[in-house]
Amino acid sequence: MSQSQKRKTGKKIHTYYDISGEKLVRRLKKCPRCGVFMAFHKVNKTRWSCGKCSYTEYVS
Ligand SMILES: [Zn+2]
Repeated sequence: MSQSQKRKTGKKIHTYYDISGEKLVRRLKKCPRCGVFMAFHKVNKTRWSCGKCSYTEYVS
């Protein structure tokens, strides 16, 4: 059975939502440089980062 693998992924997602909160995850930020949606990171420092031009904005 591959249920243990499925559970691992599910737990990760659950943890992510727990920390960020649904509202924060949904409210996507747009990059001020190129206008694409930015990715939200919570590891080490809370920040938004653009995958296109690598613009990073730190959240205090
Ligand atoms: Zn950008």
